[in-house]
Amino acid sequence: MNKELLRKLPKIDELLKEPLIQKEIDITYRVLVVESLREAIEKFRRNILENKINDFESEDVLNYAIGILTRKKQHNLRKVINATGTVIHTNLGRSLLSSDAVKNAMEVASRYNNLEYDIKEGKRGSRYSHIEELIIKITGAEAAIVVNNNAAAIMLVLDTLSKNKEVIVSRGQLVEIGGSFRIPEVMKFSGAKLIEVGTTNRTHLYDYEDNINENTGILLKVHTSNFKIYGFTEEVELDELVKLGQTKEIPVVEDIGSGVLVDFTKYGFTHEPTVQDSIKKGVDIVTFSGDKMLGGPQAGIIVGKKKYIQAMKKNQLTRALRIDKMTLAGLEGTLRHYLDEKNAIKNIPTLNMILASKDEMKKKAIKFRKKLKNSVYNFKFDIGEDYSMVGGGSMPTEKIPTHVIKVRNESISAAEIEKNLRLNEVPIIGRVFDDEFIIDVRTVFEEDITEIIKALKYMES
Ligand SMILES: *Cc1c(COP(=O)(O)O)cnc(C)c1O
Repeated sequence: MNKELLRKLPKIDELLKEPLIQKEIDITYRVLVVESLREAIEKFRRNILENKINDFESEDVLNYAIGILTRKKQHNLRKVINATGTVIHTNLGRSLLSSDAVKNAMEVASRYNNLEYDIKEGKRGSRYSHIEELIIKITGAEAAIVVNNNAAAIMLVLDTLSKNKEVIVSRGQLVEIGGSFRIPEVMKFSGAKLIEVGTTNRTHLYDYEDNINENTGILLKVHTSNFKIYGFTEEVELDELVKLGQTKEIPVVEDIGSGVLVDFTKYGFTHEPTVQDSIKKGVDIVTFSGDKMLGGPQAGIIVGKKKYIQAMKKNQLTRALRIDKMTLAGLEGTLRHYLDEKNAIKNIPTLNMILASKDEMKKKAIKFRKKLKNSVYNFKFDIGEDYSMVGGGSMPTEKIPTHVIKVRNESISAAEIEKNLRLNEVPIIGRVFDDEFIIDVRTVFEEDITEIIKALKYMES
């Protein structure tokens, strides 16, 4: 029996002659088609050997191969629909670029450009020149440089200012961010010696002062962006630390994490330190991410006193950490919006989504639900109130009131709905709560609703 079935397995060469397969070869890569056919035949062979099938047609193998090919044709890194409501979702690509930023990046990426060319002088220029002035204008700093990400920014600062020297940090600020970025480890790697002062909950100015000696390189303040401690706590304010640094002639560096450039308290959010504030307080160096609250591409921005930035520009490490033209173009496009705060809030998706009101979310949820109900019949859709998160380790305690759509089906569990939507051609990522699949409309785009409808209808059939 087995042998007979095995003999029935089609050969790759035969399948390659099929019109359906010929058509695929025309529109995609032949190597992917052959791979898919081979995997499909292998799958059937295994099923026969394990007595899992009694019979099959050559067409079944073909269809199975087409299924494999459909997945192989998709890019590995691709669009997903974020139905989690977490705006800066680190797993889902953090900040989305504004359309201006995208346009700028696309043009620069696909055409020659003046990346390192000074047009006025007709000679070699610096890639950092395109955004330094803009950053200075927005933050009020004396100088700026941009590297690959904030982790790289901190590395560069430590390598330039405190190599083989001591860096004083409060014990309450030895943070870990997103799994792999840990302040103590970064410090060790950079060749600086970490001097932990104070305790987890309380650090005083004298803790810094008592540990300063002739080998102190910098005083470092790390913004504990992804957690909050409450109760009997004490942190040294930035202005006090700056004063101490000035007296002892030691640079004060602040890793502010999220690059907040807009005062969010105006919009009813808890206070988050802005870069402008820190510069006003006289800090020597501030580092922050480009793709968190700033809403731009992945980048690490370093602003501060000219003499220190100058030293960083000359550091050989900068060459290894330098950012690409696409990033620069995206960053310039993003930063330009900040020349007018209203423009930034309107056009930068991250800001726009964080600041969208509960009422707007209610309207959006009603609209979405109507569309869903009009096309998908076996599911139930209810609107509920809930909270969205900022994400990206920013504003960890901020709960943003939102509206969600709760999806339910009598014969499909919420876990199954979640899995099916996640494995959809355009993956739809949401969460399960109380045996309902929750779609937070805050992070879902108008045009995505058609894909969600399509995926649910497919599940119905
Ligand atoms: C996010 C964060 C970092 C790391 O920034 P990346 O841009 O992800 O490298 C470092 N420090 C703080 C305080 C952060 O919040």
